Formats: sequence, structure tokens, C-alpha cells
Amino acid sequence: MNLILLGLPGAGKGTQASLISDKYNIPHISTGDMFRAAMKNKTALGLKAKKYMDEGELVPDSVTNGIVKERLQLDDAKRGFLLDGYPRTLNQAQALQQALSSSNRRLDHVLYIKVPKGILMERLTGRFMCSNCGATYHKVANPPKVEGTCDKCGSHDFYQREDDKPETVEKRINVNEEQTEKLAKHYSDFNLVREIDGEQSPKKVFQDIVDQLN
Ligand code: ADP
Ligand code: AMP
Repeated sequence: MNLILLGLPGAGKGTQASLISDKYNIPHISTGDMFRAAMKNKTALGLKAKKYMDEGELVPDSVTNGIVKERLQLDDAKRGFLLDGYPRTLNQAQALQQALSSSNRRLDHVLYIKVPKGILMERLTGRFMCSNCGATYHKVANPPKVEGTCDKCGSHDFYQREDDKPETVEKRINVNEEQTEKLAKHYSDFNLVREIDGEQSPKKVFQDIVDQLN
């Protein structure tokens, strides 16, 4: 299954991606995660991406399209993939289309997780991640089952993303809003969009996704 997760920052894409990837055994490909890993390792890609990410701006399409194209050529993505945070612009959607057609693949579904803009700020500023495995939590809505211990890997180390500070969050939501609507319209024209109510509990959101995919 070839899937895209669409939604504003904080809609719950990463949270659902982890569940979908486990259930359907397809790789979770997050451009944000790829950029963060590159930044951590101080690679050329990381250095390029850093200034945009720090400002809550989009990394230029010329950089982003190349890394996704390469990632989709790896063996594990041949049996299916789940894109999270890509495409984010119409130019990226076109680049993706070209990359897929050149290997005779096509998209199956675009899962559009919709959440009212008003609750995103609280979700993002309360988000924290496991430093070891990247699992995502929220201090109120989605804490680990045992306080201070990651449900997934048992680590006790957590961090808050640099771009989840209130001043950057607002910018990120605004930067992404118009493009997300344009992408939803674009993929609706191909009848690929499955709308999901992202305001429900993570468990219920996942159930709705599974129902849609079935
Ligand atoms: P995205 O990947 O779309 O930016 P995340 O999956 O990281 O979003 O979720 C953003 C924050 O909201 C995290 O702190 C996460 O734990 C929390 N969250 C995710 N889904 C829900 C939900 N359905 N209800 C409440 N909080 C959620
Ligand atoms: P995310 O982890 O999806 O919230 O993305 C974090 C940041 O990485 C964004 O604010 C952008 O700066 C950058 N980024 C991630 N994906 C993309 C993309 N598809 N296009 C451009 N920039 C991206």
C-alpha cells in the first residue's frame, strides 16, 4: 500500500504513522525525521535544512524532493510506504508523481487528518519525544503509561523539539495551512483523499484509519 499522511503540524501524523507502519508493515518515511537526523549528524543536508527548520519555514523543494526520491528507491519501500510530512507543496506532489510513475507505482490513499487550528498550538507545545526511539508523547493527552519511561523502548530520556516552542509553532501552522488545503484539493481531484477526524483519541483516530483502508 502506498500512502500519504496529510495534515497540519500537530494533527497526529507521526503518532498514527507509527501504528500504521507496524500494522501494515510498510516503512514510515518522515521528511522531518530525515532532516532532524541529518542535523544531529551535522551532514551537508542537515546544515542546509537547519536554518529553515529553526525558523519554521519549509526547506526548499529542490533539497526535499531529492531525498524522498532516493528514499523511495530503497528496497523496503518497494512493497509500500507511508509518507509523513511529504508532499507539503504542489511542486513536491508533482515531483512525487514523477518519481512514482518512473517506477510504475501509484498512490493508493491520502489520509487527511483534520484538526481545528485552535488546538494545534496546545498539542505541539505539549509534545515531547523519546531520545532513543523517537516515540511521540503529549504531557496531558498522551503521556507514557509509566511516567518517565518510554512505552516503546523503555528509555528514560526525552526531549522537546526545538521547533515546538510557541513562537515557532505559530509560524509553522501558518506556513503549512494554505499548502495543505491546496494538496487536499489536488488529491481530491484524483479521488484519493480519505478524511479522518483527528480530534478524537489517538486510538479512535487509528480505528477510523484502519476502517478507511479496509
Ligand atoms: P504531527 O506528526 O502531525 O506533527 P504528532 O503525531 O507528533 O503530530 O502529534 C502532535 C502532539 O499531539 C503529540 O504530543 C501527540 O502525542 C499529540 N496527539 C497526537 N494525536 C492526538 C490525539 N488524537 N489527541 C490528542 N493528542 C494527540
Ligand atoms: P515535521 O517533522 O513534519 O513537523 O517537519 C519539521 C520541519 O522540517 C518543517 O517545519 C520544515 O522546516 C521541514 N520539513 C519537513 N518536511 C518538509 C517538506 N516536505 N518540505 C519542506 N520542509 C519540510
